[in-house]
Amino acid sequence: MFWLDVDLPAQTATLHRSECMHVFPKATDRRGVNKMKSEGGWFSFNSAGEAMRFHKIKRLSGDVKACLYCKPLEHLDDFAMAGLDISTPRTGCDACGTNIEILDTKSNYRRLLDKLIGAK
Ligand SMILES: [Zn+2]
Repeated sequence: MFWLDVDLPAQTATLHRSECMHVFPKATDRRGVNKMKSEGGWFSFNSAGEAMRFHKIKRLSGDVKACLYCKPLEHLDDFAMAGLDISTPRTGCDACGTNIEILDTKSNYRRLLDKLIGAK
């Protein structure tokens, strides 16, 4: 389980693992739990991707930040990408297209390179 701490005044959203010590979902007058209030709130998700999607669909400003303490996105390291030595933003957002499925690595890498720097 993951929690997204949406802070509307600060325009930030921080993703945590549910067991993180920084997770303290508590509904107040201005912050809800799984309910958006005037200053945001805490939202629970089964996966980090769902949290990212929620952030995007709700058109929340700013980026989703991964908590530095519980590192909720650590498991999303893409080995294929690492093998190709291509750096991707570590958002793990499967909705914004940073995850590129690589099956036939060589030709896809070529195609990707051509796309990025233009075919010779
Ligand atoms: Zn955390």
